[in-house]
Order: sequence, then structure tokens, then C-alpha cells
Amino acid sequence: MNRRLFLKLSATTLIGVTGCQNRDRHTISVPYNITVTSDMKAGHQLLWPTALAKDEQRDTEYIIVGGGLAGLSAAERLADRDFVLCELSAGLGGSSGHASYAGESFSQGAHYDLAYPANYGHETLALLEKLEIVDYDPIQNCWNFVDKQYLIRESKAGRIRTETGFQAEVLKPGPLKTAFLELVLPYQGQMKMPTWLIDRELHWLDQITFRQFLARSLDLTPDFERVIDYQMRDDYGASANQVSALAGIHYYTCRPYYTESVELFSPPEGNYYFVKKLVSRLDPQRLKNQHLVKRIERDGSGFQVEVIDLSKKALNTYRAKFVVFAGQKHSLQYIFEPDQHLFSHNVYAPWLVMNLVLSDRLNTDGFWQNEILAETSTVNRKTFMGFVDNTTQVRHN
Ligand SMILES: Cc1cc2nc3c(=O)[nH]c(=O)nc-3n(C[C@H](O)[C@H](O)[C@H](O)COP(=O)(O)OP(=O)(O)OC[C@H]3O[C@@H](n4cnc5c(N)ncnc54)[C@H](O)[C@@H]3O)c2cc1C
Repeated sequence: MNRRLFLKLSATTLIGVTGCQNRDRHTISVPYNITVTSDMKAGHQLLWPTALAKDEQRDTEYIIVGGGLAGLSAAERLADRDFVLCELSAGLGGSSGHASYAGESFSQGAHYDLAYPANYGHETLALLEKLEIVDYDPIQNCWNFVDKQYLIRESKAGRIRTETGFQAEVLKPGPLKTAFLELVLPYQGQMKMPTWLIDRELHWLDQITFRQFLARSLDLTPDFERVIDYQMRDDYGASANQVSALAGIHYYTCRPYYTESVELFSPPEGNYYFVKKLVSRLDPQRLKNQHLVKRIERDGSGFQVEVIDLSKKALNTYRAKFVVFAGQKHSLQYIFEPDQHLFSHNVYAPWLVMNLVLSDRLNTDGFWQNEILAETSTVNRKTFMGFVDNTTQVRHN
């Protein structure tokens, strides 16, 4: 979209930037409203000593670090136990978070999911079934979505817009695609979730990048690499050079649409849909927003945990029997030094989400994500521009 059209269509614009820290909101003077939200400042408090005085020590059985899907899933598992979940951000969800504007909910990260093959991993499937998100389809032998209103039409699911028009398939048919699928599809059924269910013999795939894995067997072309990068960024927020081979293979082998047609699920708030389901089952008193886990130290058979309450500017201390770390891996080194070697190869892959709220309907053929839903759903008749998370998905008109 060119700038003039953008200004004409834009009554209000909401831009969210989600990183790793406390939420700062700034409003700047432009012909439309822009709100920028970032957690960077809060997260960076891990890097410096704090001048806050420690308050009285509290006891708990579990401290959960991080309120993304991993931390909330752990909390769901521990719902009957004594736990405290600390999330540095003002909202829960992490990279499956959302933003609200004028009563609408927008995805701010993960935005779609696919029907799960029966071999996906029994723990994850059991949780999703308990949350009434999926149910088993014995005919297809897979787990489909209960809430059919948010399914994307099959005819549009694989389409992306390129410089020259719509590309029917992201991975173009040809010998390279065939060789690629021959390389990754044998892993089908072995990439289970959670990943500890994956056979030990495959753990080496976590030690090399996806690009390294592919380059060992394939003559990669720049075009092919661009598409693989597109898909890695779309899902993990990082390129094939940054994600592990295990993550890359997982992406393709848990997507049965390479061999059969499956449901593609994308509510307007994206995977925050899952977050809402989890949160509704948890005691809100145990979920502490704007609480940054600053430091963890061993203490006998348990742990001493320092937590900055960012809203009250106070330093809480906990004695916990167990700590569940569900924050971004690269940050563990600042919190718990003894385990810093575990993720020494992990790098921070920053990402940015923009939600644009337009005052008028775009006169175009919708092609992706929430925009399609806006056109087809009986519930969401509002106009969305769609989820734009990298250059391939940028609308050109
Ligand atoms: C741009 C993007 C698009 C994606 N698209 C999809 C998609 O379409 N479908 C899909 O299935 N997946 C997608 N993913 C992947 C998906 O978002 C993640 O796999 C999933 O949300 C990760 O959840 P998590 O809980 O492991 O981590 P996170 O979501 O990263 O959560 C970690 C949480 O810990 C908090 N935290 C970190 N350190 C501390 C601390 N010291 N104290 C307190 N809190 C802390 C953070 O603020 C954060 O909320 C996407 C990812 C990105 C980045």
C-alpha cells in the first residue's frame, strides 16, 4: 500500500512492539494515532543490579518463570499445587500475545495453528482436548478444531502474494521440493510435543541449524532458501540459519498438508485464543503480571528467587522447592548462572508485530489470515488488513 492510500484509509493506527520487558506506551504526533508497546525496558533490568530492598520472604512450592503458552501450560498442570507464575509483561501470552483496540482483539505473534496428527504427542493432545480446542476425528485419524468459525478456507490457506501476483503454493513444485520432502518427511511421527518425547537418537538435530541440515543433502537455491526462511519466520520469528534442524523438521512433519488436506485455524486474536482457554482454568491470584524474575539461586534442596514487582517497584523474594523456567532461553544466563551453558548457543531473535486499524474497507481480494476470516466469518465482519509478519506477506496494493 502506498503512503497516500495508507493515510487516506487510516483513521487510527495501533502499532504494538513486543520484546522482553515492561510495557511502555508512547503516543507521538502524526495524522493518525500510533501506540507503540515494548517490554524491552523491563526485560533489560536483568542486566543491571537493582537498588530495591528485599521484602519479607514468601514460600511457595513452584515458581513459574514466564506467562507464555509454555508457562501457562505448566500452571495448568500444577493447578492443584502451590505455585506462583511471574510474567514480566502487563499481558499474558508472550509470543502468543494479543492487543485490544476498540473492542477488537489482534494477534501479536502466533496467529494460526493446524489440525494435529494423531502421533503429535499424547500430553499436548490431552491438554488441547481438555481445553475443548480439538476433538478426535477417527476417519482422518487426526485432531480437528472444535470452533469451526475460525477455519481458513482450503483454497486460500497456502496462497501468498508475491511481486507478480498470488503464488498458489509457497514451496514451488519441482525436483528441489521433491528432494526436500524426501529428506524431511521420513521424520513424520517422530517430532512429538513436548520435545522430551522425541527419541534421544534424534537429539543431535537440536545442535545444528535447519539450514545446515538442509545444505548437507540439497543444492539449495536462493529462491528456495527465501521460501524456507519465510516459513521459519512466519512460525518461529527467526530464519533457517537461526532455528535448529529439529524445529525446522518439526514444522514440516507436523503439517500433514504436504500429504493430505487438514484444517487451518486462525482466530482474530491468533493463538491468544489458547491463552484465554488456559487462563480461564487458573486462579488469577497466582498469575503475577509485571513481575520480572530477576535472579534464582540454589538454597539447600530448593531455590531463592528474587522477583521485581514492576508496578509497585518492590523486590519480592520467594523460597521455592522447584522452578519451571518458561522464559526466553537466551535470558536464563542472567537469571540462573549455573545453568547458563544449557542455552549458550541460543540467540535472541527480535520480532515486531504491527496492528493497523483502517477506517475503510480495502477494495481488494483478501488473501491471508484474519482478513479472510473477516470476509467469511459470520461473527467478525470488521475489516482487517491481515497479519503481516514479513516481506512476503506485505500487501502491495
Ligand atoms: C512472530 C512470530 C509468529 C509466530 N507464529 C506462530 C504461529 O502462527 N503458530 C504457532 O503455532 N506458533 C507461532 N509462533 C511460535 C509461538 O508463538 C511460540 O512457539 C509460543 O508462543 C512460545 O511460547 P512460550 O511460552 O514457550 O514462550 P514465549 O511466548 O516467548 O513466552 C515467554 C514469556 O516469558 C516472559 N519472561 C521472559 N523472561 C522472564 C523473566 N525473567 N521474568 C518474568 N517473565 C519472563 C516473557 O515476557 C514471555 O511472556 C510464532 C512466533 C513468533 C515470534
